[in-house]
Amino acid sequence: MTRYDYDLFVIGGGSGGVRAGRVAASLGKKVAIAEEYRFGGTCVIRGCVPKKLFVYASQFSEHFEDAAGYGWTVGERSFDWKTLIENKDREIARLEGLYRKGLDNAGATIFDSRAVLEDAHTVRIVAEDRTVTAETILIATGGHPSLHPALPGSEHCITSNEAFHLEELPKAIVIAGGGYIGVEFANIFHGLGVETTLVYRGKEILSRFDKDLRTALHVEMEAKGIKILCGEIFSKIERRADGRLDAYTSADRVLTADQIMLAIGRKPNTDGLGLDKAGVKTGLKGEIVVDRYSRTNVENIYAVGDVTDRVQLTPVAIHEAMCFVDTVYRGKPTSPDHETVATAVFSQPELGTVGLSEEDAAKAYAELDIYMATFRPMRHALSGRMEKMVMKLVVDAATRKVVGAHVLGVDAGEMAQLLGIAVKAGLTKEDFDRTAAVHPTAAEELVTMYQPSYRVKDGKRVD
Ligand code: NDP
Repeated sequence: MTRYDYDLFVIGGGSGGVRAGRVAASLGKKVAIAEEYRFGGTCVIRGCVPKKLFVYASQFSEHFEDAAGYGWTVGERSFDWKTLIENKDREIARLEGLYRKGLDNAGATIFDSRAVLEDAHTVRIVAEDRTVTAETILIATGGHPSLHPALPGSEHCITSNEAFHLEELPKAIVIAGGGYIGVEFANIFHGLGVETTLVYRGKEILSRFDKDLRTALHVEMEAKGIKILCGEIFSKIERRADGRLDAYTSADRVLTADQIMLAIGRKPNTDGLGLDKAGVKTGLKGEIVVDRYSRTNVENIYAVGDVTDRVQLTPVAIHEAMCFVDTVYRGKPTSPDHETVATAVFSQPELGTVGLSEEDAAKAYAELDIYMATFRPMRHALSGRMEKMVMKLVVDAATRKVVGAHVLGVDAGEMAQLLGIAVKAGLTKEDFDRTAAVHPTAAEELVTMYQPSYRVKDGKRVD
């Protein structure tokens, strides 16, 4: 019999926390979990899930246009933002209910409250003003969008949090940040008919992705009518007399919009969590420092997900949670595998990727064979849309292993999931070559690029 109230107390009811709490409870552990906002966390409540619903909504404008080439006449079109928000909120509430039900069915105790550490084994349930104790504590409090206090007028800006609940669809929006969120929301707002400008401080959007796909996406986004300004940052934001906002940029430009959105990264939620009282160490960004088993410097306290700032992706948080359960409750010490994680940016067109970009591979391998195809997919043959698809395989010339696979185009995210298996398994280009094509698909290009487009030797392209 444990001398604590709970075997496990989980702080944070997002993807990582809920998974760990539910599975530990189903193994017979006495589990409690506290969430101060809504169960489901960023991914379900104000991240991946509502974002994807917005992406679907925003794609209809092009679908209607493309229909004509296939013989359809689409009548008068109009878009109602409030309907989208209401329907999205209903779906999110349903998913939140499923998260709670899963915990409940597994026998976990749910606290709808903020929870903070009092010491290494004691947690304060803030809403009930009482403390409970636990043998093991798992911190899975996630992160929040970075604000920009140094920017004059930044209080007028929204982040992705607010973008999901705007009272009205803006007529014009300016978004700062060329990462996942900035790029995805630029496409969402544009697709919904909003005049959209993206301001990015670097040379090319999506700095961590393969250069050819970044450039190709930039071209396609601009072709749709999204204005992209690279090499610029905001210098100040001002509210105008008419209620609209002016964003002044470092290039002496003034961009006027109804909303200005910051999408400049996310920070771990560790403020006021009592980490000092428990003696838990944090890093420079406030992230909880953990070892390879997600254990903090305090023996009985673990942390998973965005609060540890390892890889800020939902499936990674879930994987870390499962490894935590294996390590602590199944007697199988397992460290999360953060290598070769497939990912997608739900831009329009979509970008799906797994493994190394050409630039990173060139640093890791002496010689590379690059296979690349740029083509107009069949679905645009009759629509008249000129949008191009790009597929690229990065192959280590010495072993012939495919070390990176990148797709820009319709359903690239779906393809990245399947490519992820092949690249993770360490398959060679010859394995790809002897795989039969599925015809007619766009993805067949991935198994029919027989000749290298060019080679890279010692970091330099040689044709
Ligand atoms: P990202 O890290 O993807 O991008 C942040 C962007 O903001 C970069 O372009 C960065 O520039 C820029 N930036 C950072 N600081 C400043 C600053 N002070 N001034 C101006 N620009 C700045 O973060 P996001 O906010 O887009 O997303 C957060 C995380 O959430 C992502 O990293 C991702 O892991 C996750 N996410 C995943 C999604 C998915 O899987 N589809 C969707 C949305 C989010 P630079 O490149 O020069 O550093």
